[in-house]
Amino acid sequence: MTAYKNFVNNDWVDAKSGETFPVENPATEETFAEVPRSKGEDIELAVRAAQDAFGQWRLTSAGKRRSILRKIAAKSRDHRDEIANLITEECGKPLVEAEDEISVIASNFEYYAELGRDQIGRIVAPTSSRSMSLVKYEPYGVVGCIIPWNFPMALMAWKVAPALAAGNTIVLKPSEITPVSILKWVELTCNNLPAGVLNIVTGYGKEAGTPLVEHPDVPVIAFTGSVATGTHISQLAAKRLKKVSLELGGKDPIIVCGDCDVEVAAKGAAWGGFMNAGQVCTSVERVYVFDSVADSFTEALVEEAKQVNIGHPRDSRTDIGPMASSMQYDKALEKVNLAVEQGARLLTGGCRPKKFDKGYFYAPTVFDGMTSDMELMNEETFSPVVPIQRVKSLQEAIELSNATKYGLGCSIYTKDIELAMTAADDIKAGSFWINNPLSENNAAPFGGMKMSGQGRELGIEGLDEFRESKHILIDYRQEKKDWWFPYGENGD
Ligand code: NAD
Repeated sequence: MTAYKNFVNNDWVDAKSGETFPVENPATEETFAEVPRSKGEDIELAVRAAQDAFGQWRLTSAGKRRSILRKIAAKSRDHRDEIANLITEECGKPLVEAEDEISVIASNFEYYAELGRDQIGRIVAPTSSRSMSLVKYEPYGVVGCIIPWNFPMALMAWKVAPALAAGNTIVLKPSEITPVSILKWVELTCNNLPAGVLNIVTGYGKEAGTPLVEHPDVPVIAFTGSVATGTHISQLAAKRLKKVSLELGGKDPIIVCGDCDVEVAAKGAAWGGFMNAGQVCTSVERVYVFDSVADSFTEALVEEAKQVNIGHPRDSRTDIGPMASSMQYDKALEKVNLAVEQGARLLTGGCRPKKFDKGYFYAPTVFDGMTSDMELMNEETFSPVVPIQRVKSLQEAIELSNATKYGLGCSIYTKDIELAMTAADDIKAGSFWINNPLSENNAAPFGGMKMSGQGRELGIEGLDEFRESKHILIDYRQEKKDWWFPYGENGD
């Protein structure tokens, strides 16, 4: 078993208490690593380091910051296999997806390396002649990042790359389920960062996350996780009027229209619903299928679900590995049982496949006969479960899509541009995918409407989360102005 340490001020340190906690491989249920069980005193140390580093880092030229971020991207690619292996070990996703995650983070660092150099402010029209109004974008200071386990590296990069590019320093707390890949990544790729610029502190949410959120010298909290934790963090942060960005849960619908290619739509829904064992915030969590194609689509989706190769995540033939933890597995089981009790028709899946006697493997699951009052159509499952509800029209699909508290993403399958764009206009979601579910673009914003969050990652919007604007007015001439006191002097 490997013992890891916190990364603070470019040094490797234990938790002050000396305590650790275990990290489990969800495919084998074996502990393979231990990491520091950090608390408030460890957060304090990391925030001090980040604050001390901020003075220099904010003044580092954008060109220098660019070259540092590009080196991190290059080294991430160089060490792809080693880091991807650890992602798979702690999170259970297939190696091919873990490797893809490293490509995603490398291109994300490259994108923000360039954007950070290019975008530092603007000049607006002045209100008088011989003067100038500059708008300058400035970093906030120490940014606290708190992230979940389903994309431990990508969700780290979506915060760390823009926050660094904007000139902030960082204290990051990974999920307690997946702390190891990030520590290894820092070791292998970040040795060109000045001390204190990026600090990683492992620990549980209440013990290490809360002190970070409450720390008076951390003006920004960038959080990805559940609606419940995000709401709690937002309330804590409001006491100090902190800036908070929240990337939260979803219940993304996919609308399957009567004119679509049913085979393609079923393959898209299967990939969108089962990828990473359904543990994607933008997973396909509910299907609204037009009556005219409901039977053929359902049959095709069930067939796709049965074809998914569920296996050990290191095996190159594996499509989906285990769920990331026993807690996730138990939640899936509970929600599926409730759906059955409420009258949903289980067409396939719903349990651990018989070939596994351990590991949190859960078979791809499809339900039919759903009605809009059932919990499975309203609450996030975060598991490989796709429930299907039949609809009579696009209008009905739009209304049902908008009927939950979430507003993260939505997909549609149709060749009819009028249907597609009407749904894109009328559905409240931060991302809308036409014939291509769950596709991201570094240059386009990602985030949720309604209870799915506030703020955006990726794109220029993702950089703006980490900088505030300052107006600098320059008057070329030093002279008394007509509009100063005394008001009566020239009016007599
Ligand atoms: P979670 O909210 O339980 O935990 C997320 C992080 O918050 C962890 O690091 C955890 O330690 C920390 N945390 C927990 N309680 C805390 C507290 N009281 N104070 C401070 N920090 C605390 O979520 P999870 O189970 O790790 O992740 C799954 C959720 O994340 C799902 O709802 C999913 O939809 C969401 N998610 C959203 C996005 C997005 O971009 N919108 C992306 C991935 C995951």
